[in-house]
Amino acid sequence: MRTRRALCGLLLLGVMPLASALPAQSVATVIRVSSLIDGAGAQRGPSDVEVRDGRIVAVRDAVGALPTNAVELSGHTLLPGLIDTHVHLAWYVNAQDRLHTASDGESAQIQALNWAANAWATLRAGFTTVQSIGEPENKWLRKAITRRLIPGPRLLTSLGSLNERTGGGSPDSLRAAVRRFKAEGADVIKIFASASIRDGGAPTMTDAQLDAACGEARALGLRSIVHAHAAEAIARAVRARCTQVEHGVFADSTARAVMAMAGTYFDPQCGLVFRNYLDNRPRFDGIGNYNAAGFAAMERALPLAERGIRDAYAARGLKMVFGTDAVAGAHGRNADELVCRVRQGGQSAMAAITSATSLAAESMGLEREIGRIAPGYAADLIAVSGNPLDDIERLTRVTFVMKGGVIYRNDPRR
Ligand SMILES: [Zn+2]
Repeated sequence: MRTRRALCGLLLLGVMPLASALPAQSVATVIRVSSLIDGAGAQRGPSDVEVRDGRIVAVRDAVGALPTNAVELSGHTLLPGLIDTHVHLAWYVNAQDRLHTASDGESAQIQALNWAANAWATLRAGFTTVQSIGEPENKWLRKAITRRLIPGPRLLTSLGSLNERTGGGSPDSLRAAVRRFKAEGADVIKIFASASIRDGGAPTMTDAQLDAACGEARALGLRSIVHAHAAEAIARAVRARCTQVEHGVFADSTARAVMAMAGTYFDPQCGLVFRNYLDNRPRFDGIGNYNAAGFAAMERALPLAERGIRDAYAARGLKMVFGTDAVAGAHGRNADELVCRVRQGGQSAMAAITSATSLAAESMGLEREIGRIAPGYAADLIAVSGNPLDDIERLTRVTFVMKGGVIYRNDPRR
């Protein structure tokens, strides 16, 4: 017990060993802050949040003397840990300063270290849960984080993806592929139902194919996340009762209305993903569809994407969830997308925060576990100096990160 308390003391001082194999504290910790945003649209003044065994046990007004093991974050705002529903944690920039590909000769060890670095960068930036959709490698990363071998966000993953050609593309072969992902341990099914934005974004899967893939996922108790740019590709995903639509750069008012009516979550990107590609062009140029036409398509998409956030925010009843599509170069900068949402997309700061906390949790079926500061929820908590409702950019300078009751960052001077 003494050792454990001593370790907790170190943690509270912000002396955090990188490889955290530490258990959550068994003694209560009180975090005192000047303000609090609960993740469900409400704000409080000076508050004490009590954490025990990795969970929030009480939220109350800050009054009286603090216990000795308290964390005092005066002048700071506490929020639920942020949630990004669309990242690619296995994407990284290799030793040649280029996008890592299977043929670049990097060893398995180097690859694994880069995944770990991405996970740590993401957690340090205040993202305590992410959904990494697309890479089989996420299986080992998820295991290493769950075993606390390395620090990283809670990780949900699809372990791969389906498209119109999977197994020949028949409905039966798509259903079989969904069952294989389930057997491999996928948390969610990722489906490509339109071409890439760099190739025009046209629909690629038929109604029958989407029915098979999303229907099989539903039958197995899995969610389905569909990459779709063209309005028709979105309409097909909605008709097939898929859970979530990604990107939607060419969504129109009809596509937004059918998503809202069906309760389909919509995850459009405002700018980080395109700006990251354009800013890092030499690192991607010449690989696959990262060519002159592809970069021109992304330049053209930028104003459409910002306009798309504005339109989606204005669409009545549309559940616009938060996801960045963070790839190599963007890990740890996920909150830049929140800044774009508010500044270029016109979303209110509170709505943007809710989309990245309680609404994101709901989209993953974790609405009773994470995404809110309330008794019973996991103690995934972050803090920033000042109030992000006054300046959303404060979320890019997170000073405190707790996940499951363990403090991973406490740097109040930032
Ligand atoms: Zn993606």
